[in-house]
Amino acid sequence: KIAENSSQKWALYHNESVQNEHDAMKMAVGLKEALANEELMLYHQPQIDLKTLRVCSSECLIRWKGSNNEFIPPTVFIPLAEDIGLINSITLWVIKTALKQQKHLIDEYGYNHMVSINISGKDVAQDQFFLDVISIIEASGIPTDKIIFELTESISFSSNTKTIEQIEKLKDIGITISIDDFGTGYSSMSQINKLPFQELKIDRQFVENIGADHRRKVITKSTVEMAKGLGLEVVAEGINSKEDEDILRRFGCDIGQGYFYAKPMAFEDYIDWLNRLDHGRIINGIEGEFIP
Ligand code: C2E
Ligand code: MG
Ligand code: MG
Ligand code: MG
Repeated sequence: KIAENSSQKWALYHNESVQNEHDAMKMAVGLKEALANEELMLYHQPQIDLKTLRVCSSECLIRWKGSNNEFIPPTVFIPLAEDIGLINSITLWVIKTALKQQKHLIDEYGYNHMVSINISGKDVAQDQFFLDVISIIEASGIPTDKIIFELTESISFSSNTKTIEQIEKLKDIGITISIDDFGTGYSSMSQINKLPFQELKIDRQFVENIGADHRRKVITKSTVEMAKGLGLEVVAEGINSKEDEDILRRFGCDIGQGYFYAKPMAFEDYIDWLNRLDHGRIINGIEGEFIP
């Protein structure tokens, strides 16, 4: 089952989750090395204000190229990093890098949209996390009101008071807290009932090709309504067409993200992409221009 040849092994990871302990250990070693050697990268995917068609934020998405030059998906190595206690170092690296890149966008190009960073539930469960975040932000020169933390589901935040306290503290210093992948796993009603979120991201399974699916329409429409009723900003992931965009806008959704606008791009490509917009405005969807 386990390929002796390491490039074959990476290909295996690429297609499937980690199969066994031996695979996981190999991958853990590779991941630690990649972090230490600055081999991880951040890709950027724009989020679009559906009223103005301007870029309002950029979601930073981590990328790891394995030894055979193939990307190992974050859905595979982030859970591993959580298991082996490496997630905290990775998240701090992500925040540091995202804010450095954000500073570059401001200083060199005058862009001032927000930056969205994915944070694991395991991060906020640690006391030290808040202090580390503060010192990274202070060193970065980026104001906290430009920063969004997207909390992903892997643990149930709402059951842990310490975690809730930490999220409150992040919110109190001005960071926008977003609940990611809403409608899946732990990102559910009990979370928005108890936690200080200001933004809700509807998972793409409800958004993609919404026009062709009555259920998706009903679920998404009522989710937007509920979120707006709670005063939350609503983001739709997985906008793939003009039709998706039009329907979501009609439902009252604030922000769209998806391949219709752009796939996640390496930072240099993202800058080129921004520079080609019409004064920060998307014209008509720029489908498939950059494929990572
Ligand atoms: P997510 O936070 O929900 O990120 C959105 C994912 O959907 C990204 O996958 C993005 O490439 C993909 N996506 C965006 N628009 C479309 C679309 O129109 N169609 C389709 N099919 N996909 C679309 P990606 O980059 O593979 O990331 C997967 C997940 O890994 C993320 O889901 C997030 O949970 C996690 N992740 C990624 N980067 C980080 C990170 O830096 N830290 C942590 N803790 N988790 C991360
Ligand atoms: Mg996210
Ligand atoms: Mg998401
Ligand atoms: Mg997701």
